[in-house]
Amino acid sequence: MDLLEHEARDLFERHGVPVPRGVVAATPESAREAASVLGGTVVVKAQVKTGGRGKAGGVKLASTPDEAFARASAILGMDIKGHTVREVLVTEASEIAEEYYLSFLLDRAGRTFMAMASATGGVEIEEMADSITRMPASSFDAAAVFPPEVAAEVNAVASALWKVFVAEDATLVEVNPLARTKDGRVVALDGKVTLDDNASFRHSRPAGGFEGDPLEVRAAAKGLNYVKLDGTVGVIGNGAGLVMSTLDVVALAGAAPANFLDIGGGASARVMADGLDVVLSDPSVRSVFVNVFGGITACDAVADGIVQALGILGDRAGKPLVVRLDGNNAAAGHRILDEARHPLITVAQTMDDAASRAAALASTTEES
Ligand code: GDP
Ligand code: MN
Repeated sequence: MDLLEHEARDLFERHGVPVPRGVVAATPESAREAASVLGGTVVVKAQVKTGGRGKAGGVKLASTPDEAFARASAILGMDIKGHTVREVLVTEASEIAEEYYLSFLLDRAGRTFMAMASATGGVEIEEMADSITRMPASSFDAAAVFPPEVAAEVNAVASALWKVFVAEDATLVEVNPLARTKDGRVVALDGKVTLDDNASFRHSRPAGGFEGDPLEVRAAAKGLNYVKLDGTVGVIGNGAGLVMSTLDVVALAGAAPANFLDIGGGASARVMADGLDVVLSDPSVRSVFVNVFGGITACDAVADGIVQALGILGDRAGKPLVVRLDGNNAAAGHRILDEARHPLITVAQTMDDAASRAAALASTTEES
């Protein structure tokens, strides 16, 4: 997962990498407010997950709060390489004497960690290809690359940056530019961090990111593999492949799926309730298609799970469910659903039939 600059900076601060003071703003008014709190000249910076913001006009100096308002008005809503700017970061401006480049990264091919450094940073990495020195992270020494008067300070910044890399389970931490200021400090003026998603369980941050769709964050907290989409038919299945095909049949039935949700192998009542809870909390969902292929977890257990989940959810359920069960103990599963006579449950025999029923239910509830 790639982080936004302001998220990367938060991690830098936590581990002692020097950054200028800064405030995130989502409106020109709050950018003006931020500028007056910070005082002096500020930099207004588009927060999007792509580089080259400076060249695209997404990084601007402002010498007064009113100017910060004007810069933020221009930058907010801007499209930078396909990313719409929703927030800006307002930082104290630094007076730059020199711009450097410094990064640590996972080198998969070399099965090791690398440091990359250049004394001519501040431009796109492609433009400084020739000037970049690569060395093993474990033997990084600023003296090999940077002017002698800053080597000790860059080494201190590098060891804090390496702490970010290790403690946060990153695969990339990059500072460009790492600036030497006119008053002789070394400061990270831009940060890029890529976290290793496979290690997200070791961190308190949600797997869906620092921010993101609130339902995705809630699902991640429950250990569910959920992705919000923009249709009206909620989709729940066991196994990523089955869920992907379910999205396809819903689309073929003329409806749009509202989400991807894989409840995995253990489709217990609790997991089913958690899954239904997340999907039914999405206000755009009009019907839900539950598609389960019984394997190790047999269909009768899944059917029990669905009935119990609706009991747990009570009035919060509220939207029609179309259930298709196949595989291990499917007949017993169907019997349980029939006997439950739950007003919200429709049982379908095939995926196609289930998809068209779910699509029809979504369109009728839409019109009512
Ligand atoms: P990027 O273009 O997406 O990499 O965004 P950066 O955050 O790296 O900003 C682009 C450029 O803006 C930097 O290379 C600097 O030259 C300039 N810049 C950023 N912060 C400051 C600052 O505090 N003072 C000055 N004078 N220039 C800055
Ligand atoms: Mn940069």
